[in-house]
Amino acid sequence: MNQEEYKIYIDDVIRRVEFARVRVSGYHIVKIVAISKYSTAKEIEKLYNIGQRAFGENKVQDLKAKSAELEELPLEWHFVGNLQKNKINNLLDIDPTLFHALDSMELAMELQKKLKARDMTLDALLQINSAKEESKHGVMPEVAKEIYEQIQKECPNINLKGVMSIGAHSDERAVIKKSFETTYDIYKELEGATICSMGMSGDFELAIECGSNMIRLGSVLFPE
Ligand SMILES: *Cc1c(COP(=O)(O)O)cnc(C)c1O
Repeated sequence: MNQEEYKIYIDDVIRRVEFARVRVSGYHIVKIVAISKYSTAKEIEKLYNIGQRAFGENKVQDLKAKSAELEELPLEWHFVGNLQKNKINNLLDIDPTLFHALDSMELAMELQKKLKARDMTLDALLQINSAKEESKHGVMPEVAKEIYEQIQKECPNINLKGVMSIGAHSDERAVIKKSFETTYDIYKELEGATICSMGMSGDFELAIECGSNMIRLGSVLFPE
């Protein structure tokens, strides 16, 4: 696809997002974070030229390399992957716009210690394992509110902005929907939460219908 064909293609994806969000309400704004984990800096630049500004990676070393390579562009960088404790300092060096995958009290405490030492803060989302899948990270839905509040209380250098979840791994729409509803119900219960990050290339319309206001799109924005 040349740049012109790519723009037409992306317009169509944005139209799908628009249809889904307007079905919720004309006032329901949905932010798109382009997940560039399988894409090159050149492809990111192509999407930037169409107007996209928020990008996300799931490996600290990739985030570091691509954000450095594209340093001259005014981009927002999100980190959506699982964070190992030995990578915390590398992530904080990059100072991302938002960390989507804070998935335990233990990681929060470790982050807090390092943030405090650097006298910096980090915006983050609590990841919820809504469908209770073995293969996924995140806190269990039953304890999510309690852990969220505990982090708010004990980790003053972490600014919790809301929640993140990955839809249930299933072919059944009802099962995926239920996992999104579980996350949204928790989100609504949280004091001051403004971001509900859920929905990927295969399920973003359903996620928006269930209340998502931040979608993480990879393959659909970077075809082939
Ligand atoms: C890869 C990834 C995405 C995007 O996945 P697609 O299905 O390609 O849209 C979203 N969120 C997370 C956490 C990811 O790792």
